[in-house]
Amino acid sequence: MIQDLLDLGLQASTAPEVLEEHAIDRWYAHNMPEVVVFAQSTEDVSATLKYAHAKGIPVTTRGAGVGYVGGAVPLKGGIALSVFQMNQIVDLAPQDGVVVTQPGVITGDLQDAVSELGWYYPPDPASLRECSIGGNIATNAGGPRCLKYGVTKHYVLGLTVVLADGTILNTGGRLHKNKQGFDLTSLFVGSEGMLGVITEATLRLIPHPAHRSMLTATFSDFQTAALAVQTILNSGHHPSALEITDPFTLKAARDYLGQDAFPPGEAHLIIELDGRQAAVEAELPEVSAILQELGALSIERHENNEACEAVWKLRRDFSYSLRATGLTKLNEDIVVPRGKLVELVEFAQELSRESGIPISCFGHAGDGNIHTNLMVADYNVPAIKEKADQALDQLFRWVLANDGAITGEHGVGIAKGKWFREAVGEASFATHLAIKNALDSEGLLNPDKFLG
Ligand SMILES: Cc1cc2nc3c(=O)[nH]c(=O)nc-3n(C[C@H](O)[C@H](O)[C@H](O)COP(=O)(O)OP(=O)(O)OC[C@H]3O[C@@H](n4cnc5c(N)ncnc54)[C@H](O)[C@@H]3O)c2cc1C
Repeated sequence: MIQDLLDLGLQASTAPEVLEEHAIDRWYAHNMPEVVVFAQSTEDVSATLKYAHAKGIPVTTRGAGVGYVGGAVPLKGGIALSVFQMNQIVDLAPQDGVVVTQPGVITGDLQDAVSELGWYYPPDPASLRECSIGGNIATNAGGPRCLKYGVTKHYVLGLTVVLADGTILNTGGRLHKNKQGFDLTSLFVGSEGMLGVITEATLRLIPHPAHRSMLTATFSDFQTAALAVQTILNSGHHPSALEITDPFTLKAARDYLGQDAFPPGEAHLIIELDGRQAAVEAELPEVSAILQELGALSIERHENNEACEAVWKLRRDFSYSLRATGLTKLNEDIVVPRGKLVELVEFAQELSRESGIPISCFGHAGDGNIHTNLMVADYNVPAIKEKADQALDQLFRWVLANDGAITGEHGVGIAKGKWFREAVGEASFATHLAIKNALDSEGLLNPDKFLG
């Protein structure tokens, strides 16, 4: 097969170390592709898919390969199609409030480039220094700022997508309003490489907030911190981020970062505010007063960019702190209606007691998107995996029974495939299949994932 691909003028490799690199992402699945194609252009992608379509060869698209659900793992072998070398910003156009980009651009690099011109691309997955814009679009990635600014889908105005048979499709464009026909652009956002390959994206930009500041607070219990989340929002404040942390995670962070890394307390809250400086400075004492009234044990102000970044660094260190416990983190990015935050954490504590598996809960409280991490000894050991999977079954069942979703950020991929059908229901599952069949009748794009 490689010779055919080279004859088409494509860059391709079957070197063992290249195949190995493209057999995994950041989850636990592993399967080797037969060949890796490194696309340099939309035309390369089209030529690859035309060839694969004619020969009936499976194709799995890959961006940076830092997905958390096995989405980029080529479960049926065939071609691993990397678009990571398509990494140019094509047009940065503040006059239209857009940036046009190839899919392989690293999200953080794109944000830096637009903010140098005073513009803002807000979606902020924690992996933003590693992941690609194409991967973000294909998984509809999000992060802490999504409370105020929305997730990736709210910024995608237009796409160039290569369909399974090699057809090049353009959807939307640089218009902020466009009501011509079905919203085809949205169809591909979150489609996890199963409907087409994104080769160019036009993304909406907004003016960069002039100033940011932060309050951090500790509380004697998680319940009061969750009440603070509700009270802040109910009082008309719209923070750019509202992050909550449970006692287990705080303890791990203190053990790893030092006991005085956080003031005393069993729950921690981050409240970030942004906007014009005078507005932010006026708002800080109002939010602080709410925290005080609710009995916060400590309240700290962080009044500029550097101070805010220092807090985010601590927050990002939670992952390392949990790793330092010696356990493996099964990171479940579940979502519940915001009003059920406390019930979720109480359920997680109960599940932990029952199963004997420690569970750490922290994350985007404003969105109800709490990363619920089962901390297991080694997920690759069958007996441990079986027990962890049973606990996950219980967790997901509870989430679905409480109007939640099994994933709010990472996507379904392989990791959550088992629960997908139950999560969306029969009518939705059948609609997914109908769309998949209409666009990829041979089932060649990213096969054996959650649609089978
Ligand atoms: C430490 C860490 C922290 C993370 N934090 C977050 C977080 O806060 N929020 C969040 O949302 N996610 C997070 N993630 C998950 C991951 O970073 C995101 O899912 C990210 O969007 C994946 O981008 P990628 O370029 O690595 O995609 P890949 O892993 O390469 O691919 C992911 C999926 O998208 C498909 N795909 C990739 N590129 C294209 C394309 N051009 N066209 C069509 N399909 C394509 C693949 O087939 C696959 O199904 C985190 C991951 C890690 C390791």
